[in-house]
Amino acid sequence: MPSGNVHNLINTAAYAALFAATALAQHAGYVHVTPVQGLAFTAGYAAGTFLLSPDLDLAEGRVNSKRYWGILGFLWVPYGMLFSHRGLSHTWLIGPLTRLAYLGVIVALVVGLVAFLVPDLRLPGLPSSLDWKGLLPLLAGYYLSQWMHLIADGVRPDHDLRHARKTARRTFKRLR
Ligand SMILES: [Zn+2]
Repeated sequence: MPSGNVHNLINTAAYAALFAATALAQHAGYVHVTPVQGLAFTAGYAAGTFLLSPDLDLAEGRVNSKRYWGILGFLWVPYGMLFSHRGLSHTWLIGPLTRLAYLGVIVALVVGLVAFLVPDLRLPGLPSSLDWKGLLPLLAGYYLSQWMHLIADGVRPDHDLRHARKTARRTFKRLR
């Protein structure tokens, strides 16, 4: 399994290659990526590489991606205890979703706590018309960064299926 630094290097190199290829294709008129789309994709990719890496399943110990959170790193300890290393966290579809959902729960808890402690505080609401077009490149960048990690780990795309099958078999055995 590559170390956190090696993962960062691989992901950064892949990004550079993709950037160059897209710039060439754009120049030739094959694709049209707006600056906003490019920025959203980059933000998603960077967040997935550095802040939401699959190796957060090791957050009960010391791991790169937890360190990037600084003093907030402890927030990922329950995630590390919840998910076994290279289990569900390292699947292609569900794995990245578990970290987004976990992050959502943490944000909701913090917002709830702040609203409880400071009832008069006016929290900024979500924009009424969330821009889904802007969300798509963000999500694409996030998922691609996760897949680069999984490829480097040697995890195959059918890991989701095999994991589900294994869990089902175990549950079935317990039921018998
Ligand atoms: Zn990994």
